[in-house]
Amino acid sequence: MDDIFSAASNRLIIDLAALADNWRKMAQLSGSARTAAVLKADAYGIGFEPVAETLYAAGARDFFVATVEEGVELRPYTPEGRIFVLAGMWPGNEKQFFNNDLVPVINSEEQLAFFMAALSERGEYPCALHVDTGMNRLGLTVDEALALANDPARPASFSPVLAMSHLACADDQAHPLNRRQLDAFRAVADAFEGVEMSLANSAGVHLGPDYHFDLTRPGIAVYGGEAVNDVPNPMKPVVTAEARILQIRSVKSGQTGSYGGSARFSRDSRVAVVAIGYADGYHRSVSGGGVTLRQAHISGAFGFLHGQKVPHLGRVTMDLSLFDVTDLPENLVRAGDYIELFGENIAIDDVARAGGTIGYEMLTSLGRRYDRAYVPAD
Ligand SMILES: *Cc1c(COP(=O)(O)O)cnc(C)c1O
Repeated sequence: MDDIFSAASNRLIIDLAALADNWRKMAQLSGSARTAAVLKADAYGIGFEPVAETLYAAGARDFFVATVEEGVELRPYTPEGRIFVLAGMWPGNEKQFFNNDLVPVINSEEQLAFFMAALSERGEYPCALHVDTGMNRLGLTVDEALALANDPARPASFSPVLAMSHLACADDQAHPLNRRQLDAFRAVADAFEGVEMSLANSAGVHLGPDYHFDLTRPGIAVYGGEAVNDVPNPMKPVVTAEARILQIRSVKSGQTGSYGGSARFSRDSRVAVVAIGYADGYHRSVSGGGVTLRQAHISGAFGFLHGQKVPHLGRVTMDLSLFDVTDLPENLVRAGDYIELFGENIAIDDVARAGGTIGYEMLTSLGRRYDRAYVPAD
């Protein structure tokens, strides 16, 4: 590993074996339902090609992306797979669907009308229907969906292969909206007899068999992130992010560091200056101090170095961060060492929490300044 990275400043180590294990675990938890994989946003920042190839080899055949462009990019890596495009089809992009064998998700009456018009020119083509059962984001209303199911004028060429809905509160297992969405979705399932049904994202899989229907759609859990609040995360970390220490400084008690003097030193300290900043998705809100908008957490993120957690100091800047290494043996820490930001030893969700955000956002904002090494699945 060190050879690949000898010249790197920041590095991501991406464990594809853990990725495959996580998907298999979600498949096992999904019981008799088939398990898809959600790969929107470049597979949550990890990369379409390695993720798709790994999950395809593990047995995944159903994939979800957000946009048609993502579907086109993903197509070559999932030769026999079905790719569902969550944003759906609109005038001007229908050829991209047809030419790349992508399945549009129909989210509204407008999209439905446009898809029907496209069908009358092209003939039969698969689609999925998204029904909103309580999130008020995308989807036909339940009433619109039921009317469509019972519409005798529905053309025979219109044959959805999937009806889906999305849970708004599945990360909170006790939330009453989960049950209400389930009941609404069951009514849709009854009306669309014979059509495959899909409700559960990662957190929804953990809600149990009632929520699994025919196809589950995990994303974050496959990438090792936390899906359910207040429950220990059973998944393996997939991404380890490390950054290089550029300099070790000695600072006297009473001095300050970083912008705004936001790092305050109440003892003589040794400080590691690390090549990581908010331009690398290490959000400013994870700062050790000096960030006025953050209220929930008093301290910021920690790094991991030579077997110990070390606190972030002061504000994260665009390209640089300070960490307190005073408590590590003096000769142990050197310029050129790598510090772990999250991964094997520091949960990505703990860093996210320190910054008032979620692992999803940490992963999808990693940026382009990391060298990436993919540890193969087998
Ligand atoms: C992103 C997304 C998922 C995956 O959600 P996770 O919480 O990452 O498991 C599933 N379904 C839809 C409609 C989504 O937008």
